[in-house]
Amino acid sequence: MLSLDQLDNTVARLLAGDRVALAQGMTLIESVHPAHQALATLLLDRIMPHTGMAKRLGITGVPGAGKSTFLEALGGYVLTLGLKVAVIAIDPSSPLSGGSILGDKTRMSLLSRAQRAFIRPVPTGGYLGGTSRRTRELMLLCEAAGYDLVIVETVGVGQSEVDIARLVDCFLSLQLAGAGDELQGIKKGIMEMADIIVINKDDGDNRARVMLTAQMYRASLTIMRRKYPAWAPPVLTCSALEARGITDIWRAVDDFYQRMAVDGGLTALRKRQQLDAMRKQIEENTLAALFARDDIQDRYRRALEQVENHSVSPRAGVEDVTRYIVEKINH
Ligand code: GDP
Repeated sequence: MLSLDQLDNTVARLLAGDRVALAQGMTLIESVHPAHQALATLLLDRIMPHTGMAKRLGITGVPGAGKSTFLEALGGYVLTLGLKVAVIAIDPSSPLSGGSILGDKTRMSLLSRAQRAFIRPVPTGGYLGGTSRRTRELMLLCEAAGYDLVIVETVGVGQSEVDIARLVDCFLSLQLAGAGDELQGIKKGIMEMADIIVINKDDGDNRARVMLTAQMYRASLTIMRRKYPAWAPPVLTCSALEARGITDIWRAVDDFYQRMAVDGGLTALRKRQQLDAMRKQIEENTLAALFARDDIQDRYRRALEQVENHSVSPRAGVEDVTRYIVEKINH
């Protein structure tokens, strides 16, 4: 693990695009050790002036939607443009032991072998809140290391999807045709979050169904309130397997940035995200500091027990714990 006297050297190497330094920085950020956390803060302070230049793209889809195949196709295409691509792959199902590393290497074999690509799996261990913060910081490290496109990928399940949408500039939802999937997508509020909708597997016998599904999405979008006045989310189709439709998708990402650049939309979005992340972090830290106190934990547990055995109402329990905390703070 990095030490303080190695920090200067690591920062210099990271800014020069050294992948080993980037990986070391990431490991530092992911460490829960308090000394490492302090060092991670220093590292982030140092690299901060060198961030903000990349495109931040979020990609989600249900398992089997073709995310890794799509990432290979899109990432591969972007590499041919001479750009550098980083993928942060969040896997809510993988344990903190990091067992998914090999899995991701085989999932995206082309990208993992490419010189100008970098893949980082992020095991979540079930703590989604902390994952957002870490993912944001990993994304910043990639930017400082000169990656032009940073993709954050996750499976499309509930909260993780919402969290990702708040981290990235452009949120791409990868969908499948037919089997009621489109209705499910609409119900889940995907339509309100997505900046680009892509129906994958537009090949073979599936093409007619893909076309129908795309039409359905387009129709539903016309009656939906826009996320940004300047951007109408397009519905595109592709075959990730045959690498078809990929250039149009990249063009849509470019268009998104051009439109959002007008009137400072992107700057405003990023500022809002930064402040939201900070607010959330302060809240989390405050809560953790309070609950680190045994007396507060005891009071909290007691209130839960009392409510469970019906000796006090939930409302009285909340008031009791809150009053206790406020009294302690005021002393
Ligand atoms: P993920 O779980 O979302 O990462 O999905 P994968 O990329 O692993 O793909 C799941 C399965 O769908 C694999 O068998 C892929 O070969 C297949 N697949 C992915 N993209 C396409 C596509 O565009 N067309 C077809 N026919 N199959 C695809």
